Amino acid sequence: MDKILVSACLLGARVRYDGGHNLLDHPVIARWKREGRLIWACPEVLGGLPTPRPPAEVQSRFPILVTSNTGQDFTPQFLAGAELFADIARQHDCCCALMKANSPSCGNRTIYDGSFTGRAINAPGVAAHELIRGGTPVFNEHELDQLIEFIQARSEADTAHRLAPADSYHATRLVAKCPAP
Ligand code: SF4
Repeated sequence: MDKILVSACLLGARVRYDGGHNLLDHPVIARWKREGRLIWACPEVLGGLPTPRPPAEVQSRFPILVTSNTGQDFTPQFLAGAELFADIARQHDCCCALMKANSPSCGNRTIYDGSFTGRAINAPGVAAHELIRGGTPVFNEHELDQLIEFIQARSEADTAHRLAPADSYHATRLVAKCPAP
């Protein structure tokens, strides 16, 4: 069964910078959780940052620089968290990830621009970038329909793959039963 790595806050873990969560209350998420399909973690907590913590934004991507709103350099924690997050994806052989949009760690398409004014730019967060760089597809909570389709397509392909040898075995037996011409 395909595993999905999820931003912990989307499953209700209180790991946000302000001590809150971003629970994504959806029946498919609840079913995937019951099935044991979901693996979850928070890159910023993995990287050693406490909860609550000051809000942080990416100031520069090349070279990478992440600071809090008071100028504290959080780059080492963000980088360490991104690496550990990607390690978890590899350990559990996750086929994809569901990550929180706009987060400086988890955003897959946009993040805030570093000015702490709520302006977004097109760029991935540090942990999402690490996964994308390694070839793991990353979806955000607004792309849940696409993620559901992606998982469905993979499981249909897997079923077809598993049935194929059985079908050819069955076909071989049918051929063997045919009288010789
Ligand atoms: S780093 Fe990711 S998992 Fe952790 S609180 Fe932020 S968005 Fe959620």
